[in-house]
Amino acid sequence: MLQFHVYPGGKKRIVTFSYDDGSGNDPRLIELFNKYGVKGTFHLNTRVFEKMTDESEKKAFVDRYIGHEVACHTVHHGWPTRMPASSLLNELINDRRDLEKYTGYPVVGMSYPCGDYDDRVLGALTACGIVYSRTTKATFNFGFPDDWRVWHPTCHHRDADKPIADFLSRIDSEWTRPMLYIWGHSHEFKTEEDWAKMEETVSKIAGLDQVWYATNIEIYDYIEATRRVRVSADEKTLYNPSSVDVWVERDKTEIFTVPAGKTVTLP
Ligand SMILES: [Zn+2]
Repeated sequence: MLQFHVYPGGKKRIVTFSYDDGSGNDPRLIELFNKYGVKGTFHLNTRVFEKMTDESEKKAFVDRYIGHEVACHTVHHGWPTRMPASSLLNELINDRRDLEKYTGYPVVGMSYPCGDYDDRVLGALTACGIVYSRTTKATFNFGFPDDWRVWHPTCHHRDADKPIADFLSRIDSEWTRPMLYIWGHSHEFKTEEDWAKMEETVSKIAGLDQVWYATNIEIYDYIEATRRVRVSADEKTLYNPSSVDVWVERDKTEIFTVPAGKTVTLP
């Protein structure tokens, strides 16, 4: 029996962070993430560009996030369900377009301002080429979303102690879901005590051999790549048509790599 129950490098667990609104505290949070080797996705509102007069200032704003993922959060941070269609579409596509001018890559991730969405908003995301979006609803669990556009996180950072304890206590167990997903806003860190608490949170889940530290889009790309792998009826030959290397587990003991674009026959 084969299972795509392993992640890049043959890791069995995933940790990801997701921060909204692009506050002036983001560079310090990124420094913290870099110190501990963890990855984050930063959901930005391009309304900040309205106050910036020259291109280099906008570029410097987006360059703060190099090494992590830049994603959408709409231009002006309104309530998506309360916007007429034209405003909703402009808020999504213009945020994408303005961020992409400086990232150099397609920006196709998002989080909902105020956690606000409905079926109409989901359709608008798809129409604007956005492939996933995070909500603000904590699951206190570690699963993948059924619909990437309704991606519920594990918890907010202020509620992370218990989920982290659960995650760590089961880190070598086969019988658990794999992904710890923590979200928040860096503008919530107002005092040195707040920063110290966040550092403690990050340090508890950093540097673990079992964990793949990834941005949101890396997780999306990887899981989608596993779903595209074609497997022969005898479970021996695997074709990976994607541009992402995929790992597969056999009989809960052996782990194999199926490189991007390759067909592999297992021994
Ligand atoms: Zn927000």
